[in-house]
Amino acid sequence: MAGKVATLRIKALVAGNWKMNGLKSARKEVVALGRKLARNKAACDVLICPPATLIAGFREDARTAGVALGGQDCHMQVSGAHTGDISAAMLKDAGARYVIVGHSERRADHGESSAIVRAKAEAAHEAGLIAIICVGETRAERDAGKTLRVISSQLAGSLPLRANAKNTVIAYEPVWAIGTGLTPTTQDVAKVHKAIRARLEKRFGFDGAKMRILYGGSVKPANAAELMAVPNVNGALVGGASLKADDFYGIISAYT
Ligand code: PEP
Repeated sequence: MAGKVATLRIKALVAGNWKMNGLKSARKEVVALGRKLARNKAACDVLICPPATLIAGFREDARTAGVALGGQDCHMQVSGAHTGDISAAMLKDAGARYVIVGHSERRADHGESSAIVRAKAEAAHEAGLIAIICVGETRAERDAGKTLRVISSQLAGSLPLRANAKNTVIAYEPVWAIGTGLTPTTQDVAKVHKAIRARLEKRFGFDGAKMRILYGGSVKPANAAELMAVPNVNGALVGGASLKADDFYGIISAYT
């Protein structure tokens, strides 16, 4: 298996997580990104996960731009009495191809356990969406030397049995690096991504070798090339720097 991994070419994914930012007027950023991509085609897949309210309205512009759309969370049920929630089928219907599940802000703010994240990922797969499953340690866990243990447990608990390289993407996002301007060293990123790859291969075999593993946490145009060059980093999950087409394109350019 190890020999095969070394020769595998995995198409990278650069995904933007807009979080709770953006009104209809932010459509101009999708259009601007499309213009940049038309001039210089990206050698990676590009995804924007705006607030769910914007997905349907962005659909045509995103299609023209060659950019996929995704949700930032979904409920584990298809429909029902869940006020304020949104199902994976609804996201798909609005034009999403992906959905982020288990982002650390959901795990922390909404008490989402790995079991809940796994149920959400299963719902995403059932609806035909690609689940981006996030894992990552807090600063305290890192300082206590527990990073790999935490990641391993989150992976074991959050990944559905039937996850494969087509329906699942992993995002490693150290919680302390999100929105702080701090990033791990490239050696630290390499160590964690290598450990994630080993666990994916052990559990899913060749599919685990092909599954994309994104790095997320303060990725900016200035550090993207260095981070994206780390072995087993197959793209980025980007928060703040995905809101403006110029910055986001600066990150995507790591792959052009
Ligand atoms: C995120 O929220 O997934 C993220 C990586 O945020 P930022 O890029 O702003 O650190």
